Amino acid sequence: MHSDGCWRWCTGGLMRRGGQGRSHVSNWVRPNRALQGKVERICWAWGLANSNAQLTMRLMKLMKPPTLGWLVRLGTVLGVCGAGLGWGQPEVKSIASSAGEPAAIKAAQPPRAKAPSRPHGRMEEMSPDELEEVLRDAPVAYVPLGTFEHHGWHLPVCFDGIKAHALCERVAQRTGGVVLPTFFYGTGGGHIGYKWTLIVPEAHIVPLIEATLDHLARQGFKVVVLLTGHYPLEQVNMVHRLAQAAQQRHPQVRFLGLAEPEVTTPQPGDRYGGDHAAKYETSIALALKPDWVHLERLTGGRDAAQVTLPTTPRTEASTHDPTHPLYAIHGQDPRKTASKALGEKLVEEIVSRLAQQVESALRQARALATPR
Ligand SMILES: [Zn+2]
Repeated sequence: MHSDGCWRWCTGGLMRRGGQGRSHVSNWVRPNRALQGKVERICWAWGLANSNAQLTMRLMKLMKPPTLGWLVRLGTVLGVCGAGLGWGQPEVKSIASSAGEPAAIKAAQPPRAKAPSRPHGRMEEMSPDELEEVLRDAPVAYVPLGTFEHHGWHLPVCFDGIKAHALCERVAQRTGGVVLPTFFYGTGGGHIGYKWTLIVPEAHIVPLIEATLDHLARQGFKVVVLLTGHYPLEQVNMVHRLAQAAQQRHPQVRFLGLAEPEVTTPQPGDRYGGDHAAKYETSIALALKPDWVHLERLTGGRDAAQVTLPTTPRTEASTHDPTHPLYAIHGQDPRKTASKALGEKLVEEIVSRLAQQVESALRQARALATPR
């Protein structure tokens, strides 16, 4: 085996010499793929051995021992024969495959082994035939829910929805299934009246989600997941009720309605595995997409008249005071407590637990559908 430095030195000679030989030979023996491979390897090795031998010969000439010259020639012949018989094949193959083989020959090669994965994708980007494939192999639909809500100076205002969507996509990659467009209209929470926040009465939201759940059941999905990234009590209760009511209407389908802290474990010393734009949400954002997070923007001194609405509460020291760096945040200071490592742990927990629930629900739904 060559060392890395030696290998780079060798391939210089190869590309100059073996490459030309290969193209002529390829035309000649193309119909016979096995023979072509052998001959290509011999040409390649001839170029490699020649370039190495010539350089070695130049060094040997300085010493002029005639027997050394013959030893080098013997080594060249052995090297060429060895390459033709397949010695050192992996290295030859990897270089040859990058040397511009015709597309027809590439296409004839068997595809590389890939980890099996069930079909999944974003529903809005899929065609009817692709969706039928999902229904056949992984009839699971994910409905991510969020809202428009101030998430501190460091996170996007629709963070709950984009977080829920990204989590659903990760679960779908494991279980298969489709992820619906995010439903960005949510209810409840402590930020009503904040600029950039839109909280809608439950009565406006419920009919739309009910219609969506009925639609999914009618299309043939066996498991439907409602995951909300916005989780004040009003929203969580609404999601639970929507899932239970849909279950009554469609007994052949399994509906799961939950908020992400229902599948996280609080960190040591914490009572709850969630918050608002603080340690938990910021960590999850760092794990899902670091570009969403701008901790450096958690600075004070903003002009309240410019960044809030007249109705926005401004009484509390941090969460309601727009001049405070931690404005709108509920929970531990993310500058001191959030990390990508914690986020990755939380995301893995959420994704693996939810995937387990979905697999179990899918088994139940399929058992119900099997005629006895
Ligand atoms: Zn949030």
